[in-house]
Amino acid sequence: MNKDIKNNDSKLNSSPEAEANAPSPFEIIKENSNYLRGTITESLNDSLTGALKADDQVLIKFHGTYQQQNRDIDDERKHQKLEPLYSFLIRIRVPGGVTTPQQWLDMDELSDRYADKTIKLTTRQAFQFHGVFKRNLKKTIQEINKSLLDTLAACGDVNRNVMCSANPFESPVHAEVAEDAKRISAHLTPQTAAYHEIWLDGELLAGGEKEEEPLYGKTYLPRKFKAAIAIPPRNDTDVLSNDLGFIAIVENGQLTGYNLTVGGGMAYTFGNNATYPRVADVVGYFPKEQIVDVSEAVLIFQRDHGNRSERKNARLKYTIDRLGLDFFRSELERIKGLKLAPAKAYTFTTLGDKYGWSQGEDGFWHYGVFVEGGKLVDKNGYLAKTAIREIAKIHQGTFILTGNQNVIIAQVSEALKPQIEAILKKYKVIDADKLSALRRNSIACAALPLCGLAFAEAERYLPSLVDKIDKVLEANGLLETPITIRMTGCANGCGRPFLSEIGLVGKAPGRYNLYLGAGFTGQRLNKLYKEMLSEEQILEVLTPILADYAKTKNAEEHFGDFVIRKQYIKATTAGLNFHD
Ligand code: SF4
Repeated sequence: MNKDIKNNDSKLNSSPEAEANAPSPFEIIKENSNYLRGTITESLNDSLTGALKADDQVLIKFHGTYQQQNRDIDDERKHQKLEPLYSFLIRIRVPGGVTTPQQWLDMDELSDRYADKTIKLTTRQAFQFHGVFKRNLKKTIQEINKSLLDTLAACGDVNRNVMCSANPFESPVHAEVAEDAKRISAHLTPQTAAYHEIWLDGELLAGGEKEEEPLYGKTYLPRKFKAAIAIPPRNDTDVLSNDLGFIAIVENGQLTGYNLTVGGGMAYTFGNNATYPRVADVVGYFPKEQIVDVSEAVLIFQRDHGNRSERKNARLKYTIDRLGLDFFRSELERIKGLKLAPAKAYTFTTLGDKYGWSQGEDGFWHYGVFVEGGKLVDKNGYLAKTAIREIAKIHQGTFILTGNQNVIIAQVSEALKPQIEAILKKYKVIDADKLSALRRNSIACAALPLCGLAFAEAERYLPSLVDKIDKVLEANGLLETPITIRMTGCANGCGRPFLSEIGLVGKAPGRYNLYLGAGFTGQRLNKLYKEMLSEEQILEVLTPILADYAKTKNAEEHFGDFVIRKQYIKATTAGLNFHD
């Protein structure tokens, strides 16, 4: 959050009650922004600083970019009496994660030309560039749009990238569901012309011409809004971590409809127990034709009932807990005439991706590539970034970004398969089969050095911690036992740490809170087990528990269930008892 944002003057001289209900400063910025324009263009043109004005830093998120600074060199810059080294993260929206080889080549080239030569694959099936300087921001966004991708609404208080179970080419049902994800994404995208005006030199609206945001209005949503679809048995989108989720119901091989889930979300604030992560409620079933109407109705519910005074309690998860599911259901009916049937049965068996080769119902092949921490970079002899670029040059299918920060090389013909295999081998792309099951089920957020909210490392550190935990697993014969592990640099939860069986959340440099007891398939949150652990302490704490797990686990019992059965930790049965 930006510390420079001033409090709203209208709060002065008001009663305590009025003050408590007064819109937050962010609401005022949105309201006064003229549909997200603010003074972004002016800020971009100011060559005296690498930063944007404070209000524009808020607004620019709606355009898919965040201002950051390189915290690794803050002291050195201060010493040299220079302002921090500001740069921008750019998030590129890819509904359902599907891109063409040409788009991949374009993103790869842009990451080299304007960013830090890496591509971050996010936990929401988006591309992310880091380290783009202000002078290159507009050029980069223009190039992204030329590639028929965009960044509008990749961040901000709007519906974000719509996620979808990873591979639309796996079966006709997967294809149908992917189309639904695209329809939701298109329907919930903001309509403002500001994006075109600012970044693409689009026409300014003529004087008197009125702009409208039919769905969002001038102040958009109270907070970010995330949507995802999962196709059982694979919960690779972590559907219950989303504000709005859909679980595909397939009967006799046909998609009939969806179970609606609402009120998931990961973030909480350390020391503030009025904030908590929450697993979404499964509220009912509806026929597939209604998916766009249902999405719109849920968005309107949150737009009109979400907390606009206190951003820390503004997500849909808090609105649902405050107003209850009965009221939510009655509002769905009032807003769009929608009545939900009882939810239908479904079973998830995994949160993970398929690695290596698998064949779709149409005979084409798909190869799941493990990308550690979602960071595509040529490093330590593993040239994953180069490998995928070389594959993109000959590939005739698509690439799919997954919700686990991996990539699938999809729709490979039998004839092309050996060539792709040869490239993967040549550039030593990690063969996921040779990794421990823990590493295959790991996620890390970006954290330091660029994320301003990070208290500790995540993406740069988790691989070496996994090396050490792997040794404990090996000693206990658990290397092939799938356990989920996720690390983030703060409790904002970008890497969904509260849904992992081993959750590590940065509290201070080199210190992590350890959370245990989540469900293996994303159905139950974990709970704080120990605070402020160093690496040595993490290993000290985990070693006996893992040894006990190896010796006394029941057949097929997952680690998260085991620590609850053996009373290492109490089960978190709802967001509201996460802190108990
Ligand atoms: Fe930054 Fe926190 Fe998100 Fe990690 S979880 S990227 S540290 S905001």
